[in-house]
Amino acid sequence: MSIANKLARKELIAMVPYQSARRLFASSGDMQGKIWLNANEASGPGNYQVSSDSINRYPDFQPENLLKAYSQYCQLPTENILATRGADEGIELIIRTFCQAYQDSVLICPPTYGMYAISAENHGADIIKVPLTKNLTLDLAGLKAQVGQAKVVFLCSPGNPTGNLLSQDEIQAALELFAESAMVVVDEAYIEFSPEQSVASWLKKYPHLVVLRTLSKAFALAGLRCGFTLANTDVIAMLSKVIAPYPVSAPVADIASTALASSGLEQMNIRVQETNELRAQLTHWLAQQEWCSQVFNSDANFVLFRCQNEAIKNFIFDGLAKQGILIRDQSKQLNLSDCLRISIGSEDELNLLMQSIRNSFASEKINTNNVITTKA
Ligand SMILES: *Cc1c(COP(=O)(O)O)cnc(C)c1O
Repeated sequence: MSIANKLARKELIAMVPYQSARRLFASSGDMQGKIWLNANEASGPGNYQVSSDSINRYPDFQPENLLKAYSQYCQLPTENILATRGADEGIELIIRTFCQAYQDSVLICPPTYGMYAISAENHGADIIKVPLTKNLTLDLAGLKAQVGQAKVVFLCSPGNPTGNLLSQDEIQAALELFAESAMVVVDEAYIEFSPEQSVASWLKKYPHLVVLRTLSKAFALAGLRCGFTLANTDVIAMLSKVIAPYPVSAPVADIASTALASSGLEQMNIRVQETNELRAQLTHWLAQQEWCSQVFNSDANFVLFRCQNEAIKNFIFDGLAKQGILIRDQSKQLNLSDCLRISIGSEDELNLLMQSIRNSFASEKINTNNVITTKA
């Protein structure tokens, strides 16, 4: 037995880490030349300058330029904002702050973002699942039955991997249910694609509301690792006891502040508009394909769809991979059998994707027993 295996916390030995899109394909060599439509990243590079003038100094705990810029953008005072190493760090912090290890639980509504469960498991918090309904709405009766059982409730709107917004009414209903017993986290990683649906302005009314934001999606800065936790001051103060002393590096703060300045916001808005248009086109195309049995309505920068059966799902996924296009298999998620998710890349990338799927079907055929045979 290795020394790590001998000494590690027992639950880590069998634990499988988050299978990020990046990790899943890190071993496939040749990252260049591939088309990445599997991690909901934006396409295309950024163009930023950083200053190394004060790089010999520790950054501020919360760099002022960054907090001011985000405060302007989200219309909340800086006291309500905690900048983090991506929204993922926010998720982890909230669990570590509010869940007593080996005692408390978090509540999730699957199918949903994988990191809530991973972070909970990592911390030794139990996971209560109240699945979304068939229509991907909150199961309010199911939630009501769990009041008092969880310390943190994770809602994701727009949802990942489903793409749909929760209605403000159902979010409000969930907030009312857990008013006395749990922090209610609304993960708004994709809110820029429908900004009018944000609940960030509700913080005054709901002391137990926490909103998560990120620069990884609409701002096209996944590599930067910068996110924000929006909450009331007492919650921010508590999270600040748990977070590392210098969570945001100075170069990250510089780049993020630039992205949040007016020309950065303008570019972001243009990107969102283009993404929403391309998403509508891809949705329309998918809906016309006979092998596609369902296209989920999306308010984010990706589209989830269901294939007629598992053989077709694998055929499409593998056919694209062979042609260098990576999408995400979501079929292991609750109620998402035979489902695949495509991130909205550039127009060229999506055209190539559609062409590549056509190529797959042109060179192979699927017979009625779902056995794939190569065309003679
Ligand atoms: C991508 C994503 C995150 C993580 O964002 P980072 O800021 O890159 O850590 C959080 N929540 C959801 C729903 C996401 O899709």
